[in-house]
Amino acid sequence: MAGEHTHRVIVATSNPGKLAEIRTALAFPGWEFVTAADLGAACPDVEEDGETFIDNALIKAFAYRGLFRLPALADDSGLVVDALNGDPGIRSARYSGENATDEQNNALLLRNLGGVPAAQRGARFQCGVVYVDEHGMPSAAYGTCEGSIGISPRGSGGFGYDPLFLPAAKPGRTMAELDMDEKNAISHRGHALRALRDRLLGEA
Ligand code: IMP
Repeated sequence: MAGEHTHRVIVATSNPGKLAEIRTALAFPGWEFVTAADLGAACPDVEEDGETFIDNALIKAFAYRGLFRLPALADDSGLVVDALNGDPGIRSARYSGENATDEQNNALLLRNLGGVPAAQRGARFQCGVVYVDEHGMPSAAYGTCEGSIGISPRGSGGFGYDPLFLPAAKPGRTMAELDMDEKNAISHRGHALRALRDRLLGEA
């Protein structure tokens, strides 16, 4: 852990919401989280060809550590739907095609769940997060958020599949109807980041 010196960590994301969440969850004294853009670099294109969220977070974190020569943090996440045998899973971002929009992915999800009754629409968001330190030592953590898939989109907060996801912890509301603090308190990424924080604290 850091002493009085700044401990700079490169974060493998360009999503400002994720960056803010990471800064809050891992607010260790002296730690500074920067993105490629903060360092004047383009966001590297890393092929995420792992089989699990943790695999992909490991691939990204090691790629960033190698490219930027800094400790690195990466996450990978997605939606796992029971009635679709775990799809879209690690393909969540590109469910309906390489450059799919959230709206296209949500529409495909609803189509593929057509006729599936509420009791069989169980799903969860999952997140793997990996920190690789200055020695190349990885620490990994995982988080999940249980819920189900609604019949039509509701709400304007969040991103991705949030308008269709009904978290079990907030009955009657979609993830997109929660404010950011409410979402972070129950989300897969929130749980994974807090688990990682505990792990890193344990090594202090
Ligand atoms: P990534 O981890 O940012 O690459 O996310 C992969 C994809 O999973 C996103 O494009 C979304 O479709 C979905 N996803 C991950 N986390 C969330 C979330 O918190 N809400 C809604 N969709 C999410």
